[in-house]
This record gives sequence, structure tokens and C-alpha cells, in this order.
Amino acid sequence: MHLKTILNRIAPHKSFVYGKTRWDEDVEWPTLEVEIQARAGSRPICSGCGQRGPGYDRLAPRRFEFVPLWQIAVVFVYALRRVECATCGVKVEQVPWCDGKHPLCTSYRWFLATWARRLSWSEVASIFGTSWDSVCRSVEQAVEWGLKHRDLSHVTALGIDEIAWHKGHNYLTLVYDISGEVKRLLAVAEERTEASLRECLTGLGQPVCDQVQFVCSDMWSAYLSVIGECLSKAVHVLDRFHIMQKFGQALDEIRAEETRQLKRDGYEPVLTRSRWCLLKRPENLTDQQSVKLAELLKYNLRSMRAYLLREDFQQFWEYARPSWAGRFLDEWTTKAMRSRIEPMKKVARMLRRHRQLILNWFRAKGEISSGAVEGLNNKVKLVTRKSYGFRTAKVAKLALFHNLGRLPEPESTHRFC
Ligand SMILES: [Zn+2]
Repeated sequence: MHLKTILNRIAPHKSFVYGKTRWDEDVEWPTLEVEIQARAGSRPICSGCGQRGPGYDRLAPRRFEFVPLWQIAVVFVYALRRVECATCGVKVEQVPWCDGKHPLCTSYRWFLATWARRLSWSEVASIFGTSWDSVCRSVEQAVEWGLKHRDLSHVTALGIDEIAWHKGHNYLTLVYDISGEVKRLLAVAEERTEASLRECLTGLGQPVCDQVQFVCSDMWSAYLSVIGECLSKAVHVLDRFHIMQKFGQALDEIRAEETRQLKRDGYEPVLTRSRWCLLKRPENLTDQQSVKLAELLKYNLRSMRAYLLREDFQQFWEYARPSWAGRFLDEWTTKAMRSRIEPMKKVARMLRRHRQLILNWFRAKGEISSGAVEGLNNKVKLVTRKSYGFRTAKVAKLALFHNLGRLPEPESTHRFC
């Protein structure tokens, strides 16, 4: 069977034919060159307007990298024609296997982009004998296409979150679609300012913002004001995950401070290696951690009083009615304010300040899944941890969209991977 026969099956082009195939002996990487010719009598398509026109002249042959076969690079060689277009003047023709000035064929770029979701970008580059930049450009093109063709008509609930990346010095603002079964990333912007979130929401467009019924976020004040302004029709919910995260941070702070104090006063270092005993829910503890926790509860430590306050608060989420939950919240915050543990008092003050938004959680119950933002937040961390060579925010954004955007792809004759 000829290579031509295979190509005609996986990448047929109506107005072009595959010609001679030969080894390219000049290069290090084994390479097959496949000639392409325009079908006799066919007229070139103008790249400006997409209309066929009379041929003007022919440029020098160019190489277009195609999907490799058995670790052998495959390159198309074709001399592009120029069209004498009635509307656009003299223009280079448009060919179906490649768009723009890319040296990579469209199917090869989709091929690289698909692999870039499974492996790190540098791994993809080294396996397929191409450069990191080519992989990056392929992902960029896939993301651009996907963003242009995605359907936002069913977005009714948004989750808003921020992540630290690049050694924790930079932030990205993320907007998720948490309406349906399938959660996805909708928008990303640099920093975590009002402008960041506004950029995300403007990018989605006013019609999308208008159809949003629920929005779930943390207590970051820059976000709160933009949400109030741009998503005024939606019920704004402070996310359970983010609220409990504040408790975790408070416990960490209390424990660290108390550990230092015990050491300073010459007491037994009972709190060392207790971090996870306090942070995890009791039902998730290992046997060893449970024993340690039971041991710690015998001491009248600030850390343990704070721990019990947090465990007490978990009950809040079980209420069915906002009014009961509200009463519980008031009682709990009063208790916490009397605890004389500053980080816990800080949590209590924060809960009081955002009482209404927190109680909205009960109004949205059943409408949005409570774990959605947390689940996506974990996935984002996985993507950023994988080494994609995130040198710039632009690359970080591309990788996040590519992995979590659930972006559509064009129909193709053949799936290469
Ligand atoms: Zn034209």
C-alpha cells in the first residue's frame, strides 16, 4: 500500500492530490517528504475572501509538518499559488491542510494539543521531535478555536475563585461554570482585583451575565463589589469551601503560636505533628491521628478550644431553613467572641459581616453543588503543579483553559490520537 493511499483516507483534499514521496536524507530526524499538487484545472481560493479566482503566479515550495508516522516525521511540500482576486488584489491562496503562516498542518497542531493535555508540554515536544514553542502555539490555537465555538447559552451558575501561581507571588482570578453536571472553566484574568473579575465577566458578555441565577465566591472584597454590580440579578452565595478554609487558616495560626509558647514556657511539645489532626474532619482521621486527637483533647489548650468551636460550627451546614441557620450563626459567633482566641474572633467577625451572603447558601441549596468550586480548585492546583513551563501568565491561562475549559473541537475526518 502506498503512503498516498493512507493519506487519501485520513486527510483527503478535494482540489489537491498527493504526489511523490521521498526520504529527506539531509536531516537528523528521519523524515518523509510528500509532494502535494493542485488538481489540474482547479482554481486557487483567495485567503482574503474565500472566493476562487484566477491564478497569478506560484511561490517557492514550502514545507508543512504533518502528524508523524512510526516516529518518522512527515512533511508536505507544496508551492503555494497566488490568486488575482477581484476584491482583494493579489493574495496567497488558502489551503485546506494549514491555516495562516504556520509551518505546522492543522491536524498536527490538534494532535500536539491533545497530547499536551495528557503530558507536560516539554514531554510532548521531545516525544514528537518538535519544539516547546510549537506545542504552546498548538495549544493556543486549540484554545482560541474552542473559545470561539463554545456554547454559553446554558450557564446559570458561576463559581469565582482565585489561585496563587508562580511561587505564590502572582494571582489569577478564575470564573467557573457550575450550572450543570459538567463543571468547566469559563474565564481567567491576571491578579485578583476588581478589574480582574470585571475583565472575566465582560469577556463572557452581558447576555451571559444576565442569565446567571447563582454565583458562588469567597469573601474577597474586590470580588464582592463587582459581583454586586455585574451580576445583580443573581443570588450571591458565599461558598462553604471558602468559609471552612478560613477556619483552617485560623486553626493553623493558633496552633503555631501556641506551639511556640509551650516551648518558650518549657512545657511538653504536645502540639508537634498535630496539624492534620486538627485540620481534618474527625471521620477522615487515621487511627493514629484519632488517638493523638483524643490525647490532645485532655489538655485545656487554645488550639483545642478553637478546634471544638470549628467542629461545633459544622452543624451550621445541616440546617434546612435559613432562619434556623441564622439563629445558630448568631449563637455561635457570640460564643466565639467570648473565647478570647483572637483568630477565632476574627472568623466570627467575618461571619457576622457577611451574614446575609452566608445564609444565601441555604437559599441556593440544591441549585448548585456545594463541592463544585472545591473540586475545580483542586484540579487547577494539579494543572499548575504539573510542569508546563509556566513562565508567563499567558501560558498559565492557556494551560488552564486547555485542561479545564472543556472546549469543543472541530469535526475531523480522522482522529490521530
Ligand atoms: Zn479575495
